[in-house]
Formats: sequence, structure tokens, C-alpha cells
Amino acid sequence: MRILYVCTELFPLLKTGGLGDVSGALPPALREAGCDVRVLLPGFTAIRDGIGPSQLPHGGPIPLPPRYGPDLASHGLPPSPPLVQGTLPGSGLAAYVLDVPAFFNRPGNPYTDGRGDNAVRFGLLGWAAACLGHGLDPHWQPDVVHCNDWHTGLAPVYLRQMAMPGPPRAATVFTVHNLAYQGTFPPSAFPRLGLPDYLFGIHGIEFWGQVSFMKAGLQSADRITTVSPTYAREILDPLQGCGLDGLLRARAGVVSGILNGVDYKVWSPANDGVLAEPYDIDSLENKAKAKAELQRKLGLDLRPDAMLFGVVSRLTEQKGLNLVEAIADELVHMGGQLAVLGTGDAPLEHAFLLAAGRNPGQIAVDIGYDETLAHSIIAGADVILVPSRFEPCGLTQLYGLRYGTLPLVHRVGGLADTVVDATPQNLEAGRATGIAFDEFSAKGLRTALRRAFELRSHPRDWRQVQQAGMRQRFDWRVAADQYAALYRSIMPHAAPIA
Ligand code: ADP
Repeated sequence: MRILYVCTELFPLLKTGGLGDVSGALPPALREAGCDVRVLLPGFTAIRDGIGPSQLPHGGPIPLPPRYGPDLASHGLPPSPPLVQGTLPGSGLAAYVLDVPAFFNRPGNPYTDGRGDNAVRFGLLGWAAACLGHGLDPHWQPDVVHCNDWHTGLAPVYLRQMAMPGPPRAATVFTVHNLAYQGTFPPSAFPRLGLPDYLFGIHGIEFWGQVSFMKAGLQSADRITTVSPTYAREILDPLQGCGLDGLLRARAGVVSGILNGVDYKVWSPANDGVLAEPYDIDSLENKAKAKAELQRKLGLDLRPDAMLFGVVSRLTEQKGLNLVEAIADELVHMGGQLAVLGTGDAPLEHAFLLAAGRNPGQIAVDIGYDETLAHSIIAGADVILVPSRFEPCGLTQLYGLRYGTLPLVHRVGGLADTVVDATPQNLEAGRATGIAFDEFSAKGLRTALRRAFELRSHPRDWRQVQQAGMRQRFDWRVAADQYAALYRSIMPHAAPIA
């Protein structure tokens, strides 16, 4: 089974969030599950540099299929931009890279629409995926094109448009990593995408007068997945459906949730290169050293008994961190410490910095993106806070579980699927792995914090919860097997293997 995995970021080459972790780990796991996988990526500088120019030998223009494809001429680009081939470092998987420096060689966040051409540059990515799905590479035609998030949403649309003449098209899977980011553009973007006019309508890719790449993927893919079973149910509801719940309900028969995994080669306290002293379930005493090291690193008072809460997150409204900021002073009064690593909304960044200023030695805030510090916090904190308003899957709570750092979460989406609340019954049964709360408010979070302090005052219970969490495994292989079964189920639509 040949799978083309299309994504815009991939750890360790480029990562802005969970999608990067998933794209770095899932394709190799799919290979282990027996799939013949290749990856298609936009040629962002970090990706091109990471693969290495010498490894990108086989460049060739994408031939123009009749009538379709984004309008590149108005951007001064040749109509057939090059698609080059290389090898991903680490996994050794084959990669196709869309090598268009005018689109992808830009500083800053890869998704910023600074030049107002996001529709065309990500449309081009979808178009390249569709061309590959339609047999562009005579040596390797995928059976399934697996698209991820809005940036790839046009691939299934282009593939359907190309399907009429010529060989059968590849089947498509569209995975939603976050429904809130939809890739919407003004109607003036539509004519630049080279699609038939009738698609700019309610049954096409139009969404409240705009062009929506997310809707395009949801409307046209053969199967839709999201990254946890609970989120797959939640997005069918207006509350979490971001205006697309009606479409999702209409397509509910092809929507499913497959829980993300963890790359335990990267996230394991037993072999984490960031830690001076590794530890594991049988050597949890070394976790105290990771905590002291973190306190030192962040300028927090060296208080072994202070309950240290960690945050590693985008600082956005989605993540519920305004609740953390609202009760930060109380957290300190309760005897706790807080370590925040994140970047995002300026007012929230500012508010956290003020909280740190009010509580020197007790609250440390690092505004930025720092992979090494992320590991130090996940290992050194006692509790990892993930109070997201909504959460498609969430990865940091899974990392926390592996590191004996209790996740304290709002019970939604993937957080509900992965953290077992420390109720008396769950404690009694030995299955509690963290603390979950339902009321999304400062009061709800405060109550959950109190429960964490209470649990901590019973060291045997605390240790039991830590160990139950550390024993959990969210292996990518399990997810890969589920994706492989899904691919197989749509294979009848796929092109025969050449
Ligand atoms: P999302 O994809 O919504 O941002 P996830 O929990 O799925 O959230 O994944 C977030 C990933 O990004 C995790 O690997 C987390 O460690 C990482 N991360 C988030 N913010 C930072 C940061 N400021 N520095 C380093 N890593 C971060």
C-alpha cells in the first residue's frame, strides 16, 4: 500500500506545534506497519536545509494538468514549479519537496500570510499532492494521499477534478489536527486557484462568502479523521464545530478519531539527553534532581517541597491559559511555583510576565520557543497544566504521563481520552493518572489545583498515580495500525499498484 503523507511541518526539521511531532513520528510508524510511505512537504528553508541540497537531486517541473492548478504567473513564477526528491534525515523516508523559494523562503512563522499569497502557495501544495496522486511520478503512484490540516485541504478537491479523464485517482484521507484554524481567504482568492466556478458555492469550498481550505478538505476527502475519538464526536456539535459541524454531521459516516501517539525515542526520562540524571519508574528519586535543575535554570527558589506547576504551550485562548494567569498569585499563596514556557497572544504573554514580576522566585516565565527547556519543564515539574478550552489531542499531557509529571487537564477532546482523574474510586482501583476538571473557569481550575495539593499531601497516593501514568503507552504503532486499516478500507477506490 503506497501512502503519500502531505504535511507542512515535520520534527526535527520544522515544528510549530503538535503537527510537527505527528508528522515526524507517524510516517516511520506507518512504514513499520507495512506501508510504503513517502512525504510531500513545502520547501520552507528549514525543510530544504534539513534535507540538504545535495540530497535533493531529482528536480523536475510539475506538468500542468489541463485547466487546473493555481495561477502562478501573477506571482512571476513559471507555470510548472519544480518538485524535487530527497531523503528525510533520521527515518530515511523518501520525500518530495515543493521547491519554490519565492513562496517558502521567508523568515518567521511559516504560516504567516505576510504577502497575501497563502491561498496560492498552499493551493500549490495541494495541487502538487494531487498531481502525485494522479501518477506524476511514473515510478511511484500512491494508493492513498493523506492530507493534514487546512494547508493541504485543496489536494482532495484537485484530485476529484482531475479524476474524470485518465487513470483512477488515489483515495484521500484528510486529518484535522485543529478545526479552529481553517485557512479562509477572501473570495478574490478563488479565481487564482484554477478551479471550476461551480465550486465556489455552498456544496463546494465557499464558506460564508469566503474560500475555506478546511471546508475543501472536509467536503472532498474520502475519509476524515481527527486526532482523538472524543474530539471526533465534539466537532459534530455546534459548540466545537467552528461553523463546520453541519457539514461534519452530514459526513459523520466517514469521520473517525485516531489518537496520536508519543515518540518515546524523543520523550522518555530514561534516555532524555537534556537531563543530567535520567530516571524511570524505578528511579523516581532522580526526578527531584530534574526539578532542582529546572528551578536553578529558571531562577526559581530552590524549594524541593514546593509543588511546581509547568506549562509548555502556545499562549492562545484555546489553551485556557488565561485561567492559569488569573489564579497564578493564588497558586503561589497555596505554596506552589509556576514555570511557563510559551509564545503567542501578546496580552497573555504580558500578563504572565507581570505575574512573574509580582512573584519573584516563585513564577518564572520564558516567552519563546525552546525545545530543550520544554524537556526540562516536562521532566522537572510536578504537574503539567493543560486546561485547554478545547483540545483535539494534546501531546504535553502524554509527555507528562511518561515523565511522572501529573497532567492536570480540562476534560475535553484528547485530554478526556488520555487522563484518568484521581477520584477516590480510580485511586482505589490503581488506574488514576492525573487530575481532570469539567468547569472551564478560574473556579474550576482553582478547585482542581486544590485537589492536586491534597493528593500531594498523600505521598503514597501521589507515587501510585505517577507510576500508573508512567506505565501508560501511547505508541505510534497502535495509531499506525489504525491508519493502515483505514487506508485499506478505501483501497477499492485507489489506483492499482503499478
Ligand atoms: P498544539 O499543536 O495545539 O500547539 P500539542 O499539545 O498537540 O498542541 O503540541 C504542542 C507541541 O509543541 C508539544 O511538542 C510541545 O512540547 C511543543 N511546544 C509548544 N510550545 C512550545 C514552546 N514554547 N517551546 C517548545 N516547545 C513547545
